[in-house]
Amino acid sequence: MIKGIGDNRQRRQIVMECIFAAGLVMAMGQLGSLNALEQVQGVVYWRRWVGGKIGSADTIGRGFASTDCDSIRVIIRQIYSQLKRNKALRPIRAGLIALIMDGHESHCSQKQCCGGCLQRKHKAKNNQKERIEYYHRHVMASLIFDGICLPLDMEPQRPGEDEGRCARRLLERILKNYPRAFDLILVDGLYARAPFFKLAIKHGKDVIAVLKDDRRDLLKDARGLFKREPSTVYQEGTTKRECWDIEEFRSWDQLDYPVRVVRSLETKKIKRQKTKVIEEQVSEWVWVSTMPKRRLGTENFVKFAHERWKIENNGFHELVNYWHADHVYRHKPVAIEAFGLLTMLAYILFHAFIRRNLKAIFRKKYTKKHFAQMITAELYHCENFIPP
Ligand SMILES: [Zn+2]
Repeated sequence: MIKGIGDNRQRRQIVMECIFAAGLVMAMGQLGSLNALEQVQGVVYWRRWVGGKIGSADTIGRGFASTDCDSIRVIIRQIYSQLKRNKALRPIRAGLIALIMDGHESHCSQKQCCGGCLQRKHKAKNNQKERIEYYHRHVMASLIFDGICLPLDMEPQRPGEDEGRCARRLLERILKNYPRAFDLILVDGLYARAPFFKLAIKHGKDVIAVLKDDRRDLLKDARGLFKREPSTVYQEGTTKRECWDIEEFRSWDQLDYPVRVVRSLETKKIKRQKTKVIEEQVSEWVWVSTMPKRRLGTENFVKFAHERWKIENNGFHELVNYWHADHVYRHKPVAIEAFGLLTMLAYILFHAFIRRNLKAIFRKKYTKKHFAQMITAELYHCENFIPP
């Protein structure tokens, strides 16, 4: 098909575009593997989009192993800009937009490894000898808006570095590519480190991070003050929140910047399924932040801080369980990153389609899974097969 077209560079460009299109359709159709994609390589559908059959599973895997991941990032950025221009992205509360960053382990193996694999020692429960476990981990960044979550970018953790370094590299790229897209960053306790906070402050962004015991001086100071300061009580659904909110802490030596500490003691009534007895469940949350109280009051602060868990439970859950984000399509560092970004792109396209192209009545009547299955069905439609 492409023998008569231009020079080698142009032909390679066309092949890579076909491979990319096939991969994107695989992700949109939630097929979950290159072998599943290979089984539909003979459908008429491809004639319309790539001018003929697509390559084998191996060809597509090899293509993604040599792809330029930044070209996928450019497409994600273009879609974000389009959605922003169309006013489809509204702040979730207090006129602020949050970026959520979190680490995620995609898979591990004791047999296969590649140049990008991280290593750890693993000892089985039955006291077998210690083995080396190979795994991949990345930090992912998503923007949260009213009713939609946009996974923007991911950065693989490299061998020999910690997650904090990897997160800073990702944040630097996000600040360059999306300088005005968000106001604050929501992270867990692992990122409550001075270099991460300093990078955000330098670019005019605020941070809300879970405060854990490893910031002992700050936590000790805050706990001392919480005993003396009055609390405020808020009710959200069945959860009662008793909150303490104090600013101008200077006991974080390495940061050299005044921070705010917020504590929320949350009481929730839950009904035990087995005994039907209603019990009270109490949990405590403490966060450290650079966000001043005048910009974000206590009640909204606590709601924002909890958004991170909603994304963890909904966004990651959906990406892993429905979009096969953890599947290793080809065990090569670039391929893992490229397929990860491709899955994020498919997720954004799907949700933008649901939100922008479907009438509210259809969105109410059918589940997201229903629409995803309609896309998959298009590929498997019998009449679409090219006769042998
Ligand atoms: Zn590997």
